[in-house]
Amino acid sequence: MELFDRLSEMGHEEIAMGSDPKSGYRGIVAIHSTRLGPALGGTRFWSYATDDEAIIDALRLSRGMTYKNAVAGLNLGGGKSVIIGDNRTKNREAIFRAHGRLVESLGGRYITAEDVGTSTSDMDFVQMETDHVAGLAGKSGDPSPVTAHGVFRAIQASAKEKWGSDDLHGKTVAIQGCGSVGRYLAKELHEAGAKLIVSDIDPERTKRVASETGATVVPPDAIYGVQADIFAPCALGGIINDETIPQLKFEIVSGGANNQLLEERHGDVLEQKGILYTPDYVANAGGVINVYGEVAGWGPERALKKADEIYDTVLGVFEIAKAEKIPSYEAADRLAERRLESAPANRLERSRSAVRATPPVSSAVPDLDVSSIASSRG
Ligand code: NAD
Repeated sequence: MELFDRLSEMGHEEIAMGSDPKSGYRGIVAIHSTRLGPALGGTRFWSYATDDEAIIDALRLSRGMTYKNAVAGLNLGGGKSVIIGDNRTKNREAIFRAHGRLVESLGGRYITAEDVGTSTSDMDFVQMETDHVAGLAGKSGDPSPVTAHGVFRAIQASAKEKWGSDDLHGKTVAIQGCGSVGRYLAKELHEAGAKLIVSDIDPERTKRVASETGATVVPPDAIYGVQADIFAPCALGGIINDETIPQLKFEIVSGGANNQLLEERHGDVLEQKGILYTPDYVANAGGVINVYGEVAGWGPERALKKADEIYDTVLGVFEIAKAEKIPSYEAADRLAERRLESAPANRLERSRSAVRATPPVSSAVPDLDVSSIASSRG
């Protein structure tokens, strides 16, 4: 498909490209939507086989960010950038400063952050050229506790939907992955009285979680078939697929990993099996809420409070799914689209001036006008 046809089919506003032959920088910024505010999404540094592959990835990921930010009730649009090349390069300052100049040229329509292949120290180089960068070291910090809290709230809401009560006392939760999100999630679930079964390819990580929570450890491939009420994928994408679904005995799938369904049709299969699926990008929005908190000058408590709202958002998604007789992954997209459709057209201008006025996050700053999903629904 030709590029402009692709842009219009996927609904993108803009794509910008930058090149700096001296450093070898080749970067692309895709802005899908600024309807709710500046387009926020990380920078991915990857060895794409072709330029086309890189462009398609930027288009696909930026569109995903529009939906994620909209459903999270944030006044942010969706964008993403990719840098083509070997992400182990030592030439980081020149490359990321060149990227910063491309971001700066967009005048605040796009805000970047770290993603696969980039780190907070790379973002420090980006910041030498532009203020439109978030997720910096020493600012909002590790997003994982906020992400894990949002996943915990998503699990509670799913329990409410499935069993009529969000009390997790005595329920068994199988957690795949005991990394940053999985470990914090395990702690919250343990405190809520849930029993835990955990897996990780790194035995040190399962050992640590087991000692903190009394979790039972199983080998990585065994997690799909364990007897538990809830499955919380917190490691890899694509783990709900033709091979794993026949093994699942869970009643709920609700976790923090991105892109849990290998293909959308696997969401339909879960539905047919009577397994309630919480769309991943609704459950794991705590990460982007944390970054937004940095842009808006929130403290950590306010970010956690915003992540609490994921409970109501998840229940709202299930309501749409029931009312419209559609699977939950599709209902999440509908919720996002409704919020986008109902947004006032001048959102970006208002948000831009607030973002531009944002001094270092430690200072008191005017807040962005955050309307919740609940208000957009109601
Ligand atoms: P992490 O790297 O800290 O943890 C991932 C863990 O999964 C690691 O301990 C790894 O050893 C383990 N793992 C890898 N393959 C495995 C397998 N086959 N079986 C069991 N365990 C396996 O990453 P994280 O920050 O905790 O993120 C986890 C997931 O959540 C990712 O999909 C990430 O994209 C998503 N996510 C994270 C955040 C965040 O704030 N960190 C926000 C949104 C989404």
